[in-house]
Amino acid sequence: MEIIKKLESGRVDKPLLAKLLCARGNLQKELFKVSRQVRQKYCGDKSVVRGVVEISNYCRKNCDYCAMQYSNRKLQRYRLTSEQIFSLAIQVKNLKIKTVFLQSGEDPIADKVIEDVLPRIKQELKLNILLCLGNRSQKQYQKLKELGASDYILKFETSNPGLFKKLRHESLEVRLKCLRLLKQVGFRVGTGNIVGLQGQTIEDIVEDILLGKKCHTEFISSSPFIPNKNSVCENKPPANINLVLNNIAIWRILLKDALIPTVSALETIKKNGQLLGFNAGANIITVNFTPSRYREKYLIYSERRFIVSLNYALSTIKSAHLKPDLMI
Ligand code: SAH
Ligand code: SF4
Repeated sequence: MEIIKKLESGRVDKPLLAKLLCARGNLQKELFKVSRQVRQKYCGDKSVVRGVVEISNYCRKNCDYCAMQYSNRKLQRYRLTSEQIFSLAIQVKNLKIKTVFLQSGEDPIADKVIEDVLPRIKQELKLNILLCLGNRSQKQYQKLKELGASDYILKFETSNPGLFKKLRHESLEVRLKCLRLLKQVGFRVGTGNIVGLQGQTIEDIVEDILLGKKCHTEFISSSPFIPNKNSVCENKPPANINLVLNNIAIWRILLKDALIPTVSALETIKKNGQLLGFNAGANIITVNFTPSRYREKYLIYSERRFIVSLNYALSTIKSAHLKPDLMI
Protein backbone atom coordinates (compact mmCIF):
# COMPACT_ATOMS: atom_id res chain seq x y z
CA MET A 1 0.00 0.00 0.00
CA GLU A 2 1.31 3.41 -1.02
CA ILE A 3 0.73 5.04 2.34
CA ILE A 4 2.76 2.36 4.17
CA LYS A 5 5.57 2.59 1.60
CA LYS A 6 5.76 6.30 2.37
CA LEU A 7 6.04 5.54 6.08
CA GLU A 8 8.80 3.00 5.41
CA SER A 9 10.79 5.54 3.45
CA GLY A 10 10.43 8.06 6.30
CA ARG A 11 8.55 10.54 4.08
CA VAL A 12 5.92 11.30 6.67
CA ASP A 13 3.58 14.19 7.21
CA LYS A 14 1.02 14.69 9.93
CA PRO A 15 -2.13 13.75 7.95
CA LEU A 16 -0.45 10.50 6.88
CA LEU A 17 0.49 9.64 10.47
CA ALA A 18 -3.03 10.48 11.68
CA LYS A 19 -4.51 8.17 9.05
CA LEU A 20 -2.20 5.30 10.03
CA LEU A 21 -2.78 5.88 13.73
CA CYS A 22 -6.51 5.42 13.16
CA ALA A 23 -6.06 2.45 10.79
CA ARG A 24 -8.46 -0.49 11.09
CA GLY A 25 -9.33 -3.46 8.85
CA ASN A 26 -7.01 -4.14 5.91
CA LEU A 27 -4.90 -1.03 6.36
CA GLN A 28 -4.16 -2.00 9.97
CA LYS A 29 -3.37 -5.60 8.99
CA GLU A 30 -0.93 -4.35 6.38
CA LEU A 31 0.61 -1.90 8.86
CA PHE A 32 1.30 -4.74 11.32
CA LYS A 33 2.60 -7.04 8.59
CA VAL A 34 5.12 -4.47 7.38
CA SER A 35 6.06 -3.67 10.98
CA ARG A 36 6.87 -7.35 11.62
CA GLN A 37 8.91 -7.48 8.41
CA VAL A 38 10.91 -4.42 9.53
CA ARG A 39 11.44 -6.03 12.96
CA GLN A 40 12.67 -9.24 11.34
CA LYS A 41 15.04 -7.33 9.05
CA TYR A 42 16.56 -5.01 11.66
CA CYS A 43 16.19 -6.96 14.91
CA GLY A 44 15.90 -10.62 13.87
CA ASP A 45 13.53 -13.01 15.62
CA LYS A 46 14.68 -12.47 19.21
CA SER A 47 12.64 -10.86 21.96
CA VAL A 48 14.52 -9.20 24.81
CA VAL A 49 13.39 -10.31 28.28
CA ARG A 50 13.85 -8.05 31.29
CA GLY A 51 13.21 -8.60 34.99
CA VAL A 52 11.67 -5.65 36.81
CA VAL A 53 11.92 -4.91 40.53
CA GLU A 54 9.78 -2.02 41.73
CA ILE A 55 11.98 -0.70 44.48
CA SER A 56 9.93 2.14 45.99
CA ASN A 57 6.46 3.64 45.63
CA TYR A 58 7.34 6.90 47.41
CA CYS A 59 7.01 9.78 44.99
CA ARG A 60 7.64 13.52 45.22
CA LYS A 61 5.55 14.17 42.07
CA ASN A 62 1.83 14.49 41.77
CA CYS A 63 0.93 13.24 38.29
CA ASP A 64 -2.86 13.23 37.97
CA TYR A 65 -3.01 9.85 36.21
CA CYS A 66 -0.85 7.88 38.66
CA ALA A 67 -1.90 6.34 41.97
CA MET A 68 1.60 6.86 43.37
CA GLN A 69 1.10 10.65 43.23
CA TYR A 70 2.13 12.09 46.59
CA SER A 71 -1.34 13.39 47.40
CA ASN A 72 -2.68 9.82 47.49
CA ARG A 73 -2.71 9.43 51.27
CA LYS A 74 -4.52 6.09 51.04
CA LEU A 75 -1.51 4.35 49.55
CA GLN A 76 0.79 2.57 51.97
CA ARG A 77 4.33 3.40 50.95
CA TYR A 78 7.32 1.03 50.85
CA ARG A 79 10.98 1.19 49.98
CA LEU A 80 13.01 -1.99 49.53
CA THR A 81 16.44 -2.35 51.15
CA SER A 82 19.56 -2.96 49.10
CA GLU A 83 19.67 -6.52 50.49
CA GLN A 84 16.12 -7.17 49.26
CA ILE A 85 16.93 -5.73 45.83
CA PHE A 86 20.11 -7.79 45.58
CA SER A 87 18.35 -11.04 46.42
CA LEU A 88 15.65 -10.29 43.80
CA ALA A 89 18.41 -9.58 41.27
CA ILE A 90 19.79 -13.06 42.05
CA GLN A 91 16.40 -14.50 41.14
CA VAL A 92 16.51 -12.58 37.84
CA LYS A 93 19.95 -14.03 37.13
CA ASN A 94 18.84 -17.55 38.11
CA LEU A 95 16.15 -17.42 35.42
CA LYS A 96 18.86 -16.52 32.88
CA ILE A 97 17.45 -13.05 32.26
CA LYS A 98 20.23 -10.65 31.21
CA THR A 99 18.76 -7.32 32.33
CA VAL A 100 17.51 -6.24 35.73
CA PHE A 101 15.19 -3.25 35.55
CA LEU A 102 14.89 -1.12 38.71
CA GLN A 103 11.85 1.14 38.71
CA SER A 104 10.35 3.46 41.34
CA GLY A 105 8.32 6.53 42.09
CA GLU A 106 10.40 9.71 41.96
CA ASP A 107 12.06 9.05 45.30
CA PRO A 108 15.52 10.62 45.79
CA ILE A 109 15.71 9.00 49.24
CA ALA A 110 16.00 5.65 47.47
CA ASP A 111 19.17 6.88 45.74
CA LYS A 112 21.33 5.80 48.67
CA VAL A 113 19.90 2.28 48.51
CA ILE A 114 20.41 2.13 44.74
CA GLU A 115 23.98 3.43 45.02
CA ASP A 116 24.71 0.62 47.48
CA VAL A 117 23.29 -2.15 45.36
CA LEU A 118 24.35 -1.21 41.81
CA PRO A 119 28.04 -2.16 42.11
CA ARG A 120 27.08 -5.51 43.67
CA ILE A 121 24.61 -6.33 40.89
CA LYS A 122 27.15 -5.31 38.29
CA GLN A 123 30.24 -6.97 39.71
CA GLU A 124 28.86 -10.06 41.42
CA LEU A 125 25.98 -10.89 39.09
CA LYS A 126 27.25 -9.26 35.89
CA LEU A 127 23.72 -8.23 34.94
CA ASN A 128 22.88 -5.41 32.61
CA ILE A 129 21.17 -2.68 34.71
CA LEU A 130 18.27 -0.56 33.46
CA LEU A 131 16.89 2.23 35.66
CA CYS A 132 13.59 4.11 35.57
CA LEU A 133 13.63 6.51 38.53
CA GLY A 134 12.46 9.82 37.07
CA ASN A 135 14.12 13.23 37.01
CA ARG A 136 17.50 13.75 38.67
CA SER A 137 20.50 16.10 38.33
CA GLN A 138 23.28 15.50 35.83
CA LYS A 139 25.58 14.75 38.74
CA GLN A 140 23.26 12.05 40.05
CA TYR A 141 22.81 10.48 36.59
CA GLN A 142 26.59 10.46 36.23
CA LYS A 143 26.99 8.73 39.58
CA LEU A 144 24.43 6.03 38.71
CA LYS A 145 26.24 5.43 35.44
CA GLU A 146 29.61 5.14 37.12
CA LEU A 147 28.20 2.69 39.67
CA GLY A 148 27.23 0.26 36.91
CA ALA A 149 23.87 1.16 35.36
CA SER A 150 23.98 1.29 31.57
CA ASP A 151 20.39 2.02 30.51
CA TYR A 152 17.75 4.51 31.69
CA ILE A 153 14.10 5.02 30.76
CA LEU A 154 12.51 8.44 31.05
CA LYS A 155 9.29 8.76 29.11
CA PHE A 156 8.20 12.15 27.79
CA GLU A 157 4.64 10.80 28.37
CA THR A 158 3.02 13.43 26.11
CA SER A 159 4.58 15.85 23.65
CA ASN A 160 1.85 18.42 24.28
CA PRO A 161 3.46 20.96 26.66
CA GLY A 162 0.08 22.21 27.96
CA LEU A 163 -1.22 18.71 28.64
CA PHE A 164 2.09 17.69 30.23
CA LYS A 165 1.95 20.66 32.57
CA LYS A 166 -1.70 20.08 33.39
CA LEU A 167 -1.25 16.40 34.23
CA ARG A 168 2.27 16.32 35.70
CA HIS A 169 2.45 19.82 37.21
CA GLU A 170 5.92 20.42 35.85
CA SER A 171 7.29 21.50 32.51
CA LEU A 172 7.89 19.24 29.53
CA GLU A 173 11.07 21.20 28.88
CA VAL A 174 12.57 20.02 32.19
CA ARG A 175 11.72 16.41 31.34
CA LEU A 176 13.31 16.71 27.89
CA LYS A 177 16.37 18.33 29.45
CA CYS A 178 16.75 15.29 31.75
CA LEU A 179 16.55 13.08 28.67
CA ARG A 180 19.40 15.03 27.08
CA LEU A 181 21.45 14.80 30.29
CA LEU A 182 21.02 11.04 30.34
CA LYS A 183 22.40 10.83 26.82
CA GLN A 184 25.26 13.16 27.67
CA VAL A 185 26.42 11.00 30.56
CA GLY A 186 26.43 8.00 28.21
CA PHE A 187 23.31 6.02 29.08
CA ARG A 188 21.48 3.98 26.48
CA VAL A 189 18.19 5.78 26.78
CA GLY A 190 14.53 4.91 26.46
CA THR A 191 11.53 7.20 26.19
CA GLY A 192 7.88 6.96 25.17
CA ASN A 193 4.30 8.11 25.53
CA ILE A 194 1.02 7.26 27.22
CA VAL A 195 -1.93 6.98 24.85
CA GLY A 196 -5.45 7.82 26.00
CA LEU A 197 -4.68 10.57 28.50
CA GLN A 198 -7.58 12.82 29.41
CA GLY A 199 -7.67 15.72 26.93
CA GLN A 200 -5.21 14.14 24.46
CA THR A 201 -6.11 14.33 20.74
CA ILE A 202 -5.06 12.28 17.70
CA GLU A 203 -2.94 15.27 16.67
CA ASP A 204 -1.17 15.10 20.04
CA ILE A 205 -0.30 11.43 19.47
CA VAL A 206 0.96 12.28 15.98
CA GLU A 207 3.26 14.85 17.64
CA ASP A 208 4.35 12.14 20.12
CA ILE A 209 5.35 9.96 17.18
CA LEU A 210 7.41 12.78 15.68
CA LEU A 211 9.00 13.68 19.02
CA GLY A 212 9.87 10.01 19.60
CA LYS A 213 11.58 9.95 16.20
CA LYS A 214 13.47 13.15 16.99
CA CYS A 215 14.68 11.85 20.38
CA HIS A 216 16.73 9.08 18.70
CA THR A 217 16.69 6.79 21.72
CA GLU A 218 17.58 3.11 21.85
CA PHE A 219 14.23 2.15 23.39
CA ILE A 220 10.78 3.61 22.93
CA SER A 221 7.42 2.57 24.33
CA SER A 222 3.79 3.33 23.79
CA SER A 223 1.54 2.43 26.74
CA PRO A 224 -2.21 2.65 27.19
CA PHE A 225 -3.59 4.91 29.91
CA ILE A 226 -5.21 2.79 32.63
CA PRO A 227 -7.40 4.58 35.19
CA ASN A 228 -5.76 4.26 38.61
CA LYS A 229 -7.93 4.17 41.75
CA ASN A 230 -7.30 7.08 44.12
CA SER A 231 -5.68 9.20 41.43
CA VAL A 232 -7.22 12.39 39.99
CA CYS A 233 -7.97 10.52 36.72
CA GLU A 234 -9.54 7.48 38.40
CA ASN A 235 -12.88 7.82 36.60
CA LYS A 236 -11.51 8.44 33.11
CA PRO A 237 -11.90 5.76 30.41
CA PRO A 238 -8.92 3.51 29.55
CA ALA A 239 -7.10 3.91 26.25
CA ASN A 240 -8.29 2.48 22.95
CA ILE A 241 -5.91 -0.44 22.41
CA ASN A 242 -5.89 -0.01 18.61
CA LEU A 243 -4.30 3.43 18.92
CA VAL A 244 -1.50 1.98 21.06
CA LEU A 245 -0.90 -0.95 18.70
CA ASN A 246 -0.83 1.35 15.66
CA ASN A 247 1.55 3.69 17.48
CA ILE A 248 3.88 0.73 18.19
CA ALA A 249 3.79 -0.34 14.54
CA ILE A 250 4.45 3.18 13.25
CA TRP A 251 7.45 3.59 15.56
CA ARG A 252 8.78 0.20 14.49
CA ILE A 253 8.57 1.12 10.82
CA LEU A 254 10.04 4.59 11.32
CA LEU A 255 12.74 3.72 13.85
CA LYS A 256 13.71 0.29 12.45
CA ASP A 257 16.01 -1.24 15.11
CA ALA A 258 14.64 0.48 18.24
CA LEU A 259 13.77 -1.79 21.16
CA ILE A 260 10.02 -1.54 21.72
CA PRO A 261 8.26 -3.26 24.66
CA THR A 262 4.86 -4.86 24.71
CA VAL A 263 3.78 -3.56 28.12
CA SER A 264 1.71 -5.45 30.68
CA ALA A 265 -0.90 -2.68 30.60
CA LEU A 266 -1.92 -4.01 27.17
CA GLU A 267 -2.86 -7.27 28.89
CA THR A 268 -4.75 -5.33 31.58
CA ILE A 269 -7.05 -3.81 28.99
CA LYS A 270 -7.40 -6.87 26.78
CA LYS A 271 -6.73 -10.59 27.11
CA ASN A 272 -3.79 -11.49 24.84
CA GLY A 273 -3.03 -7.76 24.59
CA GLN A 274 0.70 -8.38 24.97
CA LEU A 275 0.66 -10.86 22.11
CA LEU A 276 -1.07 -8.17 20.03
CA GLY A 277 1.81 -5.83 21.02
CA PHE A 278 4.35 -8.33 19.65
CA ASN A 279 2.26 -8.79 16.52
CA ALA A 280 2.31 -5.01 16.02
CA GLY A 281 6.14 -5.03 16.08
CA ALA A 282 7.31 -4.97 19.72
CA ASN A 283 10.39 -6.96 20.76
CA ILE A 284 10.71 -6.73 24.55
CA ILE A 285 8.71 -8.20 27.41
CA THR A 286 9.28 -7.58 31.12
CA VAL A 287 8.87 -10.24 33.82
CA ASN A 288 7.86 -8.99 37.27
CA PHE A 289 10.04 -9.86 40.29
CA THR A 290 8.54 -7.49 42.87
CA PRO A 291 7.35 -9.57 45.87
CA SER A 292 3.54 -9.64 45.85
CA ARG A 293 3.09 -7.79 49.16
CA TYR A 294 4.87 -4.77 47.63
CA ARG A 295 3.61 -5.25 44.09
CA GLU A 296 0.02 -4.59 45.12
CA LYS A 297 1.18 -1.18 46.35
CA TYR A 298 2.92 -0.28 43.09
CA LEU A 299 -0.09 0.83 41.22
CA ILE A 300 0.81 2.34 37.87
CA TYR A 301 -1.44 -0.06 36.03
CA SER A 302 -4.25 -0.13 38.60
CA GLU A 303 -5.12 -2.75 41.17
CA ARG A 304 -6.26 -5.00 38.31
CA ARG A 305 -2.76 -4.94 36.93
CA PHE A 306 -1.59 -8.00 35.06
CA ILE A 307 1.52 -9.68 36.48
CA VAL A 308 3.93 -11.16 33.96
CA SER A 309 5.64 -14.41 34.99
CA LEU A 310 8.53 -15.98 33.09
CA ASN A 311 6.28 -18.79 31.84
CA TYR A 312 3.71 -16.36 30.53
CA ALA A 313 6.46 -14.26 28.87
CA LEU A 314 7.97 -17.32 27.20
CA SER A 315 4.65 -18.63 25.93
CA THR A 316 3.71 -15.19 24.57
CA ILE A 317 7.08 -14.91 22.81
CA LYS A 318 6.52 -18.35 21.31
CA SER A 319 2.98 -17.49 20.16
CA ALA A 320 4.47 -14.44 18.42
CA HIS A 321 6.93 -16.75 16.57
CA LEU A 322 9.90 -15.13 18.31
CA LYS A 323 12.68 -16.55 20.50
CA PRO A 324 13.65 -15.31 23.97
CA ASP A 325 17.06 -13.67 24.26
CA LEU A 326 18.26 -15.31 27.49
CA MET A 327 21.71 -16.24 28.85
CA ILE A 328 22.95 -19.40 27.25
N1 SAH B 1 8.35 7.80 38.52
C1 SAH B 1 9.08 7.54 37.33
C2 SAH B 1 9.11 6.11 36.90
C3 SAH B 1 8.09 5.15 37.42
S1 SAH B 1 6.47 5.34 36.87
C4 SAH B 1 8.57 8.39 36.21
O1 SAH B 1 7.47 8.90 36.30
O2 SAH B 1 9.32 8.52 35.24
C5 SAH B 1 6.65 4.43 35.37
C6 SAH B 1 5.68 4.81 34.29
O3 SAH B 1 4.35 4.49 34.69
C7 SAH B 1 5.61 6.28 33.95
O4 SAH B 1 6.57 6.62 33.00
C8 SAH B 1 4.19 6.42 33.39
O5 SAH B 1 4.26 6.49 32.00
C9 SAH B 1 3.50 5.13 33.77
N2 SAH B 1 2.17 5.34 34.34
C10 SAH B 1 1.84 5.90 35.52
N3 SAH B 1 0.49 5.93 35.68
C11 SAH B 1 -0.04 5.38 34.57
C12 SAH B 1 -1.38 5.12 34.14
N4 SAH B 1 -2.42 5.46 34.88
N5 SAH B 1 -1.56 4.51 32.95
C13 SAH B 1 -0.50 4.18 32.19
N6 SAH B 1 0.78 4.41 32.53
C14 SAH B 1 1.02 4.99 33.72
FE1 SF4 C 1 5.45 9.62 40.51
FE2 SF4 C 1 6.15 8.53 38.15
FE3 SF4 C 1 3.65 8.23 39.15
FE4 SF4 C 1 4.42 10.62 38.29
S1 SF4 C 1 4.22 8.73 37.02
S2 SF4 C 1 3.33 10.22 40.23
S3 SF4 C 1 6.57 10.64 38.86
S4 SF4 C 1 5.54 7.42 40.00
